Amino acid sequence: MNSYVEKVISETKKKYPCQPEFLQTVEEVLTSLEPAFDKHPEYEANALLERLVEPEREIKFRVVWSDDQGKPHVNNGYRVQFNSAIGPYKGGLRFHPSVNLSIIKFLGFEQTFKNSLTGLPMGGGKGGADFDPKGKSDGEIMRFCQAFMTELYRHIGPKVDVPAGDLGVGGTEIGYMFGQYKRIRNAYENGVLTGKGLSYGGSLIRPEATGFGAVYFFNEVLKHEGKDIKGMRFALSGFGNVAWGAAKKLTELGATVVSISGPDGYVALNGMTDEMIDFMLEMRASRRDCCKDFSDKFGVPFFAGKKPWGNVDADVYMPCACQNEITLPDAEAIVTKGVHYVNEVSNMPTTNEAMAYLRDHGVLLAPSKAVNAGGVSVSGLEMTQNSERLSWTAEQVDDMLKSIMKGIHTSIVDACNAYGVGYDLVAGANLAGFKKVAEAMMAQGWV
Ligand code: GLU
Repeated sequence: MNSYVEKVISETKKKYPCQPEFLQTVEEVLTSLEPAFDKHPEYEANALLERLVEPEREIKFRVVWSDDQGKPHVNNGYRVQFNSAIGPYKGGLRFHPSVNLSIIKFLGFEQTFKNSLTGLPMGGGKGGADFDPKGKSDGEIMRFCQAFMTELYRHIGPKVDVPAGDLGVGGTEIGYMFGQYKRIRNAYENGVLTGKGLSYGGSLIRPEATGFGAVYFFNEVLKHEGKDIKGMRFALSGFGNVAWGAAKKLTELGATVVSISGPDGYVALNGMTDEMIDFMLEMRASRRDCCKDFSDKFGVPFFAGKKPWGNVDADVYMPCACQNEITLPDAEAIVTKGVHYVNEVSNMPTTNEAMAYLRDHGVLLAPSKAVNAGGVSVSGLEMTQNSERLSWTAEQVDDMLKSIMKGIHTSIVDACNAYGVGYDLVAGANLAGFKKVAEAMMAQGWV
């Protein structure tokens, strides 16, 4: 291994032994950046990696809110402003009980490279809270969002840091947070958040963007492989906004969706009707986090406590749920099942061991920071529309999304060729995303 890369990985591990998710992504990304460091010794002389793995700012705050019985609750809120070399910090907010500094740092680090890949001027950031939206009333969600924004507002702004949604944060939550931001700031700065409703500055296609973009990207991969998406079988996990968009676009393009899942298990399918796809939105809105509801409604087989990986016959596995949902035993089952493609849609769905196993066994893995970049891309287009004070048509936004996803694939292939790493989408995405950030950081001096 390149000695500089090795040194920074080991120093980071020593510094943050209690942040496993963050260390996982640092190790994965830095290892594949080795060819860039072999070629550019000046990076070491300018402490580029030491700066890259350290967020510019980490903010942690207390969020106090009251439930429907008038009882107070206390949660931890976070915003990690990771890297602003190429634009204002940009990235979602996650509300989930598992949220901690390690999770937010891993997401912020990934976001820095993902945003760079889009070609749009957006730095990397991420935030959230260890708040569990499951089973909460609408009033409780509103009061939580207001309390959260009452602390967050002082750290963000359309030219500073622009949050959006992630797990547990959709249009409803963004609406409540924007309302509170506007009330505190006494200014109509709608470019401060993306994923807004259409009536107050949201963009058409934003809700669909992550899922649509993931399918557009994979279509480019298939074209490169000389294959057609029509008739291919896709096993999805998750049933939220991302899986919904992917299922919708796959079905439209003539592919067959053969599963969706939740924390409680998966359902086996043989294609999806429009009614089934629409029902995914109702499941998300119910805040029950329960996939069995789908099997109860449509009478399709439900497999309690199981994941689709290795169980469902498919051509492509497409994780759309959460981080580390494909572990080493899952990877072994995937290889045994003979599935050749994994198209990662959720952020870092594959553990490093599982990723190494899949790649060693000839599975082509498309990494999440490229595959799911459609969401933040349309967020970037929403920011542009807000700055212009104009709204574009669905067709305009969709066309731009398609060309951004195609551009990401092209820049990955270019990076693979420049560094001679074959058609390795994981290495190519890291190298391509890193290039622009590194150039900007070098140009801006020791900050
Ligand atoms: N949370 C999404 C992501 O992981 C979207 C971020 C955004 O739109 O800013 O990329």
